[in-house]
Amino acid sequence: MSNISDLNNSGRDVIIIGAGPSGSSCAFWLAKSGWDVVVLEKKQFPREKTCGDGLTPRSVKQLEDMGLTNSLREHHSYEGLRAVAFGKQLELRWPKGDGLGTVGYCVTRYDLDQLVANQAVKHGAELRQKVTAETIIFDEDTDKAIGVVAVDAYGNKQEIYSKLIIVADGANSRIGRSIGIERDKNYPLGLAIRGYFYSPRHNDSFIESHLDIRDLDGSVMPGYGWIFPLGDGRVNVGAGLLNTSNRWKGYNTNKLMDAFVSQIGPSWELSTDASIAAPTGGKLPMGFSLGPRVGNGWIAVGDASGSINPFNGEGIAYGYETGRLASGVVDEALRLYDEVSESQLISILKKYDQILESNYRDYYRVASIFVEAISHPKLLKFLISNGMRSKTIMEWVLRIMANLVREEDKGIAEYILSSAEHAARIFKPGLPSTLTDSSNKLKIRSLTS
Ligand SMILES: Cc1cc2nc3c(=O)[nH]c(=O)nc-3n(C[C@H](O)[C@H](O)[C@H](O)COP(=O)(O)OP(=O)(O)OC[C@H]3O[C@@H](n4cnc5c(N)ncnc54)[C@H](O)[C@@H]3O)c2cc1C
Repeated sequence: MSNISDLNNSGRDVIIIGAGPSGSSCAFWLAKSGWDVVVLEKKQFPREKTCGDGLTPRSVKQLEDMGLTNSLREHHSYEGLRAVAFGKQLELRWPKGDGLGTVGYCVTRYDLDQLVANQAVKHGAELRQKVTAETIIFDEDTDKAIGVVAVDAYGNKQEIYSKLIIVADGANSRIGRSIGIERDKNYPLGLAIRGYFYSPRHNDSFIESHLDIRDLDGSVMPGYGWIFPLGDGRVNVGAGLLNTSNRWKGYNTNKLMDAFVSQIGPSWELSTDASIAAPTGGKLPMGFSLGPRVGNGWIAVGDASGSINPFNGEGIAYGYETGRLASGVVDEALRLYDEVSESQLISILKKYDQILESNYRDYYRVASIFVEAISHPKLLKFLISNGMRSKTIMEWVLRIMANLVREEDKGIAEYILSSAEHAARIFKPGLPSTLTDSSNKLKIRSLTS
């Protein structure tokens, strides 16, 4: 077999499609290692991106590792989560996770994504804005991805060649679909909507989650509503829902938003008159439900790989983490590029999949099955209303759901989850086994070091 350097792929080392959290983190780490990276971004920064704008300590760790501590400090920090449900509320501070701080931030994606993309540029990456990747070019003989057809804002097309390609084009991943990435429909998919409102409580030191959002008939729904204070006069208000039962598939999230705003309006002094712009929504592919994530000459990261945490809908941290993990594998592949055969190159790239499997698979599997189970409204009510009676239990729930369980605390987290699972079996006897199967013990060590 020919060495891959024989192929017609002279050009850049890496093309990254998309400069959201996953693409920019990958670009930052690769550029920092000295590789020649070009990032194609179809929008011009700063740009709006539909998101809750909430950064947990997991995201903060990744941003700090990219040298953005001081930039973060210019934004609104918060201490923890106020959980609200069934007439009760509990203020839960961020726990101390392994190697993590106890502070989160709320930063609009308008500001955040530009910040990280610029940091990648400072370290040597080239960012081409208003340039859309249309298709990936494959070598006709070997089927290796060797470049991208890109089109700029004036409609000019250009072929850009590279040794490797990173697909980081987000939840709708048109590029991903064009190269055969599909969603496994056995996994939950989130739908969420958010809007900005003025509120006198914009400086609140807790983000707030409502765990008892209801549909118009008053039934509790599998999802949550949030108010994330931005510290600039505004709060980000939104609601997310899982498509885990037919009842909620295709549910109109605008109605959900209206119901949630009227539920929380008085306490946050919101009114629909104070809405800054029409709310916008999007999909949350979760649990690594998308695949394949590695192909001949390419790797998919972030939402394009379905990397959102099913427990809480958090995707920014996992975008940064998967981008960074992919950069490690790509770094190795590039160093050996001229020496290895194409099949050896694919084997190196596949290490990314193995790392995802060992770092996230068990946790995400438990999370996916668990959120599926709690789509039963009576069970959801039973678990949340009982949990809300104990601050200690809810502090553990926060740790589990935000993937912040320390190695030494895993036993307690597993105990709490398996107790909830036993309760779930009363309502859903056919529930697939998760923690009760000893081979599926909760494994939480997904931070890149
Ligand atoms: C309503 C809502 C609320 C959310 N709230 C939170 C939250 O509070 N905290 C949290 O952690 N996560 C949240 N998420 C999830 C989070 O937004 C995503 O997980 C995260 O944005 C994924 O990052 P990414 O880089 O993979 O993709 P994206 O952020 O979607 O970035 C993809 C980039 O690629 C560009 N692009 C797309 N196609 C092309 C192309 N063909 N060529 C060139 N460029 C292209 C896009 O313009 C975009 O900039 C929320 C999601 C939604 C929908």
